[in-house]
Amino acid sequence: MSSEQVYEMLWDCKYCGTKKLLGKTHRFCPNCGAPQDDEARYFPSDDEKVAVKDHVFYGADVICPNCDTLNSANSQFCQQCGTPLTDAKKAELVSDDQVIRDGEKFESTGPRDIAQERYEQKLEAAGLTPKSKPKSRRGNLGLIAILGGIGLVIVFALVAIFWKRETTAYVTGHSWTREISIEEFAPRAQNAWCDAMPSDAYSVSRRSEVRSYRQIPDGEECSTRRVDNGDGTFSERRECRTKYRDEPVYDNMCYFTVNRWGYERSARAAGESLKEQPYWPDTQIRQTGTCIGCEREGQRNADYLVHFRADQDEYTCNLDQPQWDSIPLESTWTFKVGVITNQPDCSTLARAG
Ligand SMILES: [Zn+2]
Ligand SMILES: [Zn+2]
Repeated sequence: MSSEQVYEMLWDCKYCGTKKLLGKTHRFCPNCGAPQDDEARYFPSDDEKVAVKDHVFYGADVICPNCDTLNSANSQFCQQCGTPLTDAKKAELVSDDQVIRDGEKFESTGPRDIAQERYEQKLEAAGLTPKSKPKSRRGNLGLIAILGGIGLVIVFALVAIFWKRETTAYVTGHSWTREISIEEFAPRAQNAWCDAMPSDAYSVSRRSEVRSYRQIPDGEECSTRRVDNGDGTFSERRECRTKYRDEPVYDNMCYFTVNRWGYERSARAAGESLKEQPYWPDTQIRQTGTCIGCEREGQRNADYLVHFRADQDEYTCNLDQPQWDSIPLESTWTFKVGVITNQPDCSTLARAG
């Protein structure tokens, strides 16, 4: 739904200083006779605005290529000098629409400083400054600070990852751990939406809970927009759109018990030297099969660590078993170390000498 009202734009005469002249009525300054300048037009405040009755809109004014006088879009020759207006340039519009919410009042956008605007447009086109309002400049400074901060963090992270030095170290020891997780088949409390409950669930209880939200229309939100028509007038349009609120949608949540496999405990074996071959721990499984209280083996994990010393620093590499096996005690190796993190890059391990 929109309704439209038409009002006069305002302009200030830059020759004699007369202010708040009417865009449609005063094509020339009533004081000194100077022609209106399309680029001097601005929106009035609510108290200043003058309605245009029975407005006929032909399009934005055109500018006489010979004498710069503004002419209505429906005229064929300049009313001032008679030059044909066939290829005449269109009047410039106030580019930013004004918008207010219900209950607010429009303020005048005030006389425009064309020279300043041009200067800023040129700077902007050349990429020298962002939009020039002080408010947005502060916003941009904040943004630049944030981007700069993120950039610094990224640079620091990259340096931490890639800045490395080479070190020479000797092997001070070996260690290993092997671990098996053990699962148990047991009753487990779970919950799910009742339409997705497993078929072997038992001891079921239901509860009504919010499953999703539905959007319900909840009145209108209206604003008024001012648009420069370019012929010395502007239109005020009322624009409304439907507001929505979230309404919860309830469904049945089922709380139940099911018999399932799940992690119960871990069995672990560990050693400290190359002499003892790594072995898997005894899992001591109680009872196999699928009964309540039955157990089975789950995931296996193994770590094979070699410990190094270089001057004051100690390093540890987690290797695969064949490589771990092939590194003798007290042998000397080179590898890269992060300058900032002091973490070894074990993929660069190489026998020294
Ligand atoms: Zn004047
Ligand atoms: Zn002319």
